Amino acid sequence: MKQQDVIALTERYVARTYRRYPVCFVRGRGARLWDTEGREYLDFVAGLAVVNLGHSHPRVVEAIRRQAERLLHTSNLYHIEPQARLARLLCERSFADRVFFCNSGAEANESAIKLARRYFNLKGENRYKIITMESSFHGRTFFSMTATAQEKIHTGFGPLPQGFVYVPFNDVSALESALDSQTAAVMVEPIQGEGGVRLPEEGYLQRVREICNREGILLIFDEVQTGIGRTGTLFAYEQFGVTPDIMTLAKALAGGIPIGAMLATEEVMQAFGPGTHASTFGGNHLATEVAIEVLKTIQEEGLLENCQRMGEYLKRGLEELRGLYPFIRDVRGRGLMVAMELSMDAMPVVDECLKRALLVNATQERVLRFLPPLVIEKRDVDQMLSILRNVLDSFRAG
Ligand SMILES: *Cc1c(COP(=O)(O)O)cnc(C)c1O
Repeated sequence: MKQQDVIALTERYVARTYRRYPVCFVRGRGARLWDTEGREYLDFVAGLAVVNLGHSHPRVVEAIRRQAERLLHTSNLYHIEPQARLARLLCERSFADRVFFCNSGAEANESAIKLARRYFNLKGENRYKIITMESSFHGRTFFSMTATAQEKIHTGFGPLPQGFVYVPFNDVSALESALDSQTAAVMVEPIQGEGGVRLPEEGYLQRVREICNREGILLIFDEVQTGIGRTGTLFAYEQFGVTPDIMTLAKALAGGIPIGAMLATEEVMQAFGPGTHASTFGGNHLATEVAIEVLKTIQEEGLLENCQRMGEYLKRGLEELRGLYPFIRDVRGRGLMVAMELSMDAMPVVDECLKRALLVNATQERVLRFLPPLVIEKRDVDQMLSILRNVLDSFRAG
């Protein structure tokens, strides 16, 4: 189909929940995409931190083919070998002892909130409130949307479920004041993603952990975006010397095949017995086999090291630009989760980049977000910086 026909069909038949760029990709390889007209793009969005191995990585393609020929789905009425092996792999590489599988980040967070409530319910404690952070993002189901402390995401959907309390990110005393005898958990992204790549201040996450220990409440890390190598370690929490009680994953876990996972310690996951929670597709043969391949590939191809190296190189390049353009306010990030905050609207910059065949993302109005695949090379970063520089020049001139 021609691009214009795809756009017309979307406008006629698809729910209008997304503001889309007028482009339709049909093929990808590594950090490159091609549209219906055969034009090549450089991708610094990676499906919003989903295709961390790049587009159509041969090992992902082969894992999909192999598993599709063997078996796709049998349901959780029966045992599923790749699900069991993936759970072992995730536990061996993290703080966790057990994993619940689902299909998305929102669902993983929904599961985490349900688990926290049930954990205290079974202990006979009336603790059900979840404290979350302003500018957080946890998903769009009713509970995960309510956990998301951004008013614009709640508009028109009230009444919202009870039991959520919001505090500013990086504010320990606000957190202290928000605690009460009904608090069950604190839920936080180790680095806020959609909120504009906001990093925790030195010692903040440790303080949050100490408070949770003191109060006997649970710490939930939402690593849906920061997980699976994005920040230079398999999970971002490894860099902050803090372990949660519950962690959620999704996005990059199966390299583009839908999957979600909620990991917890043995003690906490005990609260989920048979019949308490479920997901038809959760942890099916295809998604979990591909996820195993993704984790192996990250290790065997040294992608964490590449992410750290390229992340530093990208940040240094963006820092250099900061010295040249007065409207660049800040450059920040970890690994290949990097942001450039502007003193003006970032959307027109994204539009100009798209015209020059570069994909970047804008969030929170003024933040340009860079989430390239972890397989990115130095010359890709150089090419991106050169395009971006041309674009920024056009804004200085105008
Ligand atoms: C994307 C995201 C979610 C939601 O994931 P979905 O798969 O879209 O439901 C939740 N938390 C964080 C931190 C995210 O970045």
